[in-house]
Amino acid sequence: MSSELTKVVALSGGIGGAKLALGLYRILPSDSLTVIANTGDDFEHFGLSISPDLDTLLYTLSGKDNQELGWGRRGETWTFMAAIAALGGESWFRLGDGDLATHVERTRRLRAGEPLSSIIDDFRRNFGIAASLLPMSNDPVRTKVQTADGPLEFQDYFVRQRCAPVVTALRFAGAETALPSPEVLTILGDPRVGIVVICPSNPFISIDPILAVPGIRTALRDCPAPVVAVSPIIGGKAVKGPTAKMMAELGLPVGAAAVARHYSDLIDLYIADEEDACSLGELPMPVIFTRTLMQSIEDREQLARDVINAAARVRR
Ligand code: GDP
Repeated sequence: MSSELTKVVALSGGIGGAKLALGLYRILPSDSLTVIANTGDDFEHFGLSISPDLDTLLYTLSGKDNQELGWGRRGETWTFMAAIAALGGESWFRLGDGDLATHVERTRRLRAGEPLSSIIDDFRRNFGIAASLLPMSNDPVRTKVQTADGPLEFQDYFVRQRCAPVVTALRFAGAETALPSPEVLTILGDPRVGIVVICPSNPFISIDPILAVPGIRTALRDCPAPVVAVSPIIGGKAVKGPTAKMMAELGLPVGAAAVARHYSDLIDLYIADEEDACSLGELPMPVIFTRTLMQSIEDREQLARDVINAAARVRR
């Protein structure tokens, strides 16, 4: 990135995406990162508005993430959940006491008419996060999972049924009429943006909903900065979650190559794991191989550096 190209945009889902977003946040000047998050996983539960991917990013970037569980907040307590279960209430979606405060406060402000983007901007500032964190849209977009046994709400599929049903198609209800958050179009049109990174998130349920919001795909195509995607598949397998299983069910070859092809109309460079170097085959874009497994903080920072350095050598 040259010195005038000071901004980096990342498209992210939850856990996989947030790992690289944290690496980027730690190696870049603190206010140069903007993360655009998927809100297709958002849902209403106990009358509360829950935004799992935005919250994962808020907790991860502020160092409040629960590393033992791999989701939710550090040092969480579960009094609410135990009390709900004792009442015979629904306990399939676990809400920690601290996490609950995020949902209560978000819901209160949404009901008062504030857009989600301004609420999240306040939350991230109060958490001391210097990066910008943007929901893809302020309008509701809801991922619906079509399965062999009929349609499912996303969290029913993902959490209650632990991704067991066979996925036949995905739909992003509300996407056709949703508008991108205004800040999303502003940042993608900012000439100072040097790189757009598609994080190693699930392409079908974390990145596709973002791309389904009218205007975002075009803004990415028109953006002068190179768009770089990092593979969420390592050695032919997902690190976590249903990405590989979903690829097989959707009739795609399971592997890093199929993810690259999925993004082929958008990306200028693909970053795959060195484990896949021999099996990737010919792809329609340049590919760089590096270690992409992020176990430690150093791994997250190193992959972020590799992404920035690789993108610096690519032109649109
Ligand atoms: P979710 O919204 O919480 O499911 O999270 P994402 O969609 O952002 O991330 C899920 C994807 O992250 C899965 O496909 C994982 O394979 C991938 N992933 C998780 N950890 C890593 C990692 O350390 N390296 C890479 N390359 N991918 C990862």
